[in-house]
Amino acid sequence: MQTILVIEDSPLVLKVLQHQFQQESELQPIFCASLAEAEVVLETFAGQLFAALVDLHLPDAPNGEVVDLVLRYHLPTVVLTATYDEQRRDELLLKGVVDYVLKESHSYTYALRLLHRLERNRHIKLLIADDSAATRNFIRRILTPHLYQIVEADDGLEALRILQEQPDLDLLLVDHTMPGLSGFELVKRLRHELKRTELIILGLSADGKGSLSAQFIKQGADDFLRKPFYPEELNCRVMHALDRRDLLRALERAALFDSLTGLLNRRAFTEQCQQVLRKKRPVAVAMLDLDHFKRINDQFGHASGDAALLTFANALRKAFPQALQGRLGGEEFALLSPLLSAEQLSQQLDRFRAQLAGLSYSPGAPPLSFSAGVYQGWDEKLETLLRLADDNLYQAKADGRGRTVQPVQAPG
Ligand code: GH3
Ligand code: MG
Ligand code: MG
Repeated sequence: MQTILVIEDSPLVLKVLQHQFQQESELQPIFCASLAEAEVVLETFAGQLFAALVDLHLPDAPNGEVVDLVLRYHLPTVVLTATYDEQRRDELLLKGVVDYVLKESHSYTYALRLLHRLERNRHIKLLIADDSAATRNFIRRILTPHLYQIVEADDGLEALRILQEQPDLDLLLVDHTMPGLSGFELVKRLRHELKRTELIILGLSADGKGSLSAQFIKQGADDFLRKPFYPEELNCRVMHALDRRDLLRALERAALFDSLTGLLNRRAFTEQCQQVLRKKRPVAVAMLDLDHFKRINDQFGHASGDAALLTFANALRKAFPQALQGRLGGEEFALLSPLLSAEQLSQQLDRFRAQLAGLSYSPGAPPLSFSAGVYQGWDEKLETLLRLADDNLYQAKADGRGRTVQPVQAPG
């Protein structure tokens, strides 16, 4: 939860902002209606404030004096204004405000989105690779109010070294013409190894040729900016690229993981298992199915059923660190381990069953129980191994549930 200082005197705008903040669980506003009130709040709470949203024209500060006040406290500041004045906007951006937002219906949503972005930006690391110190300083000055962590490199090789040393860098701003290794070469090398969700690349160049941008993008850059650029343009492109990256990451996650339990979904589990099977070595697999799960739904409601699945999955994740774990569907799960024997996996499943019986997931609901079938061997297809484990699971259900059936040991 972040506390935001909101300084605004118009009752109408205040009402809209109050409404917007009510929809937010992460942002807590403190409202002030004048410069005098803001001074008191800042003196008292400065250390607890995360950012400020301020009106440029207040009854006791008609000329934007409030911006200087808030910036003296080093608070990231978003300015709200009823009139658009280009010169004023440039002055404010150079002073270090985060953005200059016109008071219009959709821009309040934008202002709040910006505040959220600021919170996330604190964990975002940017690398500026440019041989011109003046350009690096200019970019740093524009981006600093947005709270990014910023690193600099003065040529391509230095940038490459920093990227190798700091694999957690999120975004690279790279100049085209640099001594040693050019921006083009650098992008080509990096894109070979790093996906767009791992490193965002924005190309920069002072070269007037229009074809440069397309070439940069073809080498693997996500976007391009021609120098000189407006501070706002740089900010918008960086923000936009980060938003797009987050969206791509969310899509990637949704494609791989089950949304309720966070375990691998059937497709991702199958893909990862198939990779293990390419080694052509025997593996142990288990099919698990919750017992009488339908009754939990029927007697305690679907939400209790979901809680049961989540509790089961979390416990499974902890109990089998040496196995791949997947939710195949409904209340059916699977494990595959190249490290354990069928015997070991069965023993671990029995210990897990005892543990599980002690976990509660919904008041009054019965303890969780599951049946499991284990198999050990190799086949080029996971499906075959799972089917053989499923035969043993079927046996476990038929034998009375709450047990594990493993392959019959050959005598002798
Ligand atoms: P058995 O011991 O023979 O396995 O009986 P069971 O009741 O566990 O099995 P059955 O296949 O009859 O019922 C499974 C139920 O799981 C039916 C379905 O509605 C429910 N289910 C499947 N997915 C979900 C889910 O994501 N959430 C909840 N709450 N229920 C689910
Ligand atoms: Mg079941
Ligand atoms: Mg079932």
